[in-house]
Amino acid sequence: MTAAAAARSILTQLHEVMASRMHAQGKLDRVVEIIGETLDSEVCSIYLLRDGMLELFATRGLNKSAVHVTRLAMGEGLTGTIADQVETLNLAEAKAHPDFQYRPETGEDKFHSFAGVPIVYRERSVGVLCVQHVEPRRYEDVEVEALQTTAMVLSELLSNNDLVDEVQSGGRGKQQTGPVTITGLSLVKGLASGLATFHQPRITIDHVMADDIEAERQRVYRAFDKMRDQIDGMTQQAEFGKGGEHDEVLQTYKMFAYDEGWSRRINEAIDSGLTAEAAIERVQQRTRMRMREIDDPLLADRMHDLEDLSNRLLRIVSGQLGTAATQGLRRDTILIAKNLGPAELLEYDRRRLKGVILEEGSLTAHVVIVARAMGIPVLGRARGIRSVVIEGDEILLDGDAGCATVRPGQTVAAAFDTRFAKTKERQAAYAEMRDIEPFTRCGTRIQVMMNAGLRDDISNLNLVGADGIGLFRTEFQFLVSATMPQREKQLRLYRDVLDAAGDKPVIFRTVDIGGDKAVPYLKPGEAELDENPAMGWRALRMALERQGLLKAQARALLEAASGRSLYVMFPMVSEPWEFDAAKAVFEDQLAFLRKRKHVLPDRVEYGAMLEVPSLAEVLDLLIPRVSFISVGTNDLTQFLFAADRANPKLAERYDWLSPSILRFLRRIAQATVGQEVDLGVCGEMGGRQLEALALLGLGFRRLSITPVSVGPIKELVRQVDLSEITEAMTAWLSSPPDNMRETLKAWADERGIATD
Ligand code: PEP
Ligand code: MG
Repeated sequence: MTAAAAARSILTQLHEVMASRMHAQGKLDRVVEIIGETLDSEVCSIYLLRDGMLELFATRGLNKSAVHVTRLAMGEGLTGTIADQVETLNLAEAKAHPDFQYRPETGEDKFHSFAGVPIVYRERSVGVLCVQHVEPRRYEDVEVEALQTTAMVLSELLSNNDLVDEVQSGGRGKQQTGPVTITGLSLVKGLASGLATFHQPRITIDHVMADDIEAERQRVYRAFDKMRDQIDGMTQQAEFGKGGEHDEVLQTYKMFAYDEGWSRRINEAIDSGLTAEAAIERVQQRTRMRMREIDDPLLADRMHDLEDLSNRLLRIVSGQLGTAATQGLRRDTILIAKNLGPAELLEYDRRRLKGVILEEGSLTAHVVIVARAMGIPVLGRARGIRSVVIEGDEILLDGDAGCATVRPGQTVAAAFDTRFAKTKERQAAYAEMRDIEPFTRCGTRIQVMMNAGLRDDISNLNLVGADGIGLFRTEFQFLVSATMPQREKQLRLYRDVLDAAGDKPVIFRTVDIGGDKAVPYLKPGEAELDENPAMGWRALRMALERQGLLKAQARALLEAASGRSLYVMFPMVSEPWEFDAAKAVFEDQLAFLRKRKHVLPDRVEYGAMLEVPSLAEVLDLLIPRVSFISVGTNDLTQFLFAADRANPKLAERYDWLSPSILRFLRRIAQATVGQEVDLGVCGEMGGRQLEALALLGLGFRRLSITPVSVGPIKELVRQVDLSEITEAMTAWLSSPPDNMRETLKAWADERGIATD
């Protein structure tokens, strides 16, 4: 019999059973008969999980008296192993398997061959379906596939019957019940606890058996068309920059997406009577099983691609397209994702989102900066987290130690609570410092400002006691909006920000879109598509070309600041003329408003971000033009080291405390000495105590940092003697120690300067 014919025959019969008015037990009894007859199998049994044990619920061929008597723990015997590992076993000689266990009451001693598949409900093993033969032989693929299809139908039966309650309460494999600790890279410090939510929720398949096969076929055709269009769109973009990992991945995707074998197998599964969703899942199960048998890391990667693609197809066909954000968070959440964009993160309800765990991620990726600004701890590079965690699992996220405990035991949870309470105490202590001015021990006042980008951030200004907003990332408004924010909307935000800041200065940075801050409605034209967006058509480069955008923003800012001071900063200035051109746009708008007799700002100060190394070579030309310079160490570092800030593989490779960066920064600081220009740092580097200490030693007197760091940095400033650290830095930079970080840390420890 062909695979499709066997499956069709089984499904037709199962369809009748499921539609019948029989009690669940009666249905299970029928199912084992159907499987036994169709596969010509001497034994067919169903074990279901009850009170944490796998109980024999129905059998054909074993002693009937063993039904509801034979019980196995998860992981016990072959049946327990299948459920525990959520995997299929196909054995010619069952007794030869190390996990084999003999149960005399079943009378199974005469059977040699054994094949079993897990029954999975809501991602959990809730039972096992197995067949046995006297004759020692491995089962054909067709037979195993028929079992897998039946297992899917059984899971639907369980969900529709009273059996499901019993199943739901106990059901999951052993490896998924105990506590597991996952380590990763600490991207945003802090502690958080909540229940696991997947950014891309797993798809639930409610109906396995098709009512109308032709309709299912049409659904899957349409889904294939849509998916292929999507993949074509992606590859076309990538074709502008051939080569590289990204391109390779997409090409593989494309190959899989157009793979005739894949679509044929799905069609065959539909022919046998499955719904489109069940057919896709069915075929995926089979591929998974085959791949598992081949132990090859390269193939494992390909498997990942295929899983992604299969999930994409499932999402399209089932219409379950949204992320967890669109469905809304209903409880304290630890969000789990492979990776996220900043806009995707911002879609979440900030009150409920307590922490984020990413399989990828790097310290200065914008999603991480946004999370840091939101005060949300992030653990990155947590490999394998998605296979260990189940939606709804409790998670304790330790962003300080760079790990997360999934399903913690009581002792761990209690220890975590104690630490949590201590951190809160510390935060309260920082909050008390909000009115204390950050003077160094030697009496120099350091400007500690904060970075912001959203309306909600402004309340932090007084909460943490910052000296102002040293970087307002105006593009965040663009990132959270589905369409381009109109001038009036921009104006309203800027006015609100200035109102809330009162006398404290706010430095508005004009839009820095592009790189990892792409917005759907502002795409480069085809001729401008970037292979390397961080170095491409972004920030000021885009703004100078699409002047409509910059003009609208200039008008909005100038009008919002009427009657008060306005500080404007341009991102990604690479040469002084770009600064001139951007300033000219503002001056034109100012002239326009003047002519219209608008109330103008009292004064407008212009500054530049120094984040492209080329600008550092022409500081003598830049300084006379600007009122202030703010060093963007996030981009500066990526350009200095030629290391993509969003690439997780490079996340730990370069240190902010390396002599090359520190010497570079010192040169900038020295070039501004005695000049009429304010100098500061607004990258993430300034928010870390050890790095901030180094910056003070290099001559920086203004730091603009993430709000949660304001307290710790003020505390640091108050312990520092500037001449001491300047002298030490000078010595280290002329003859760098092997490990600058350790040297600086030891130096701070010796003086009792607390650094994290
Ligand atoms: C920087 O590059 O250091 C910076 C502050 O800007 P952003 O992180 O928004 O690119
Ligand atoms: Mg930048």
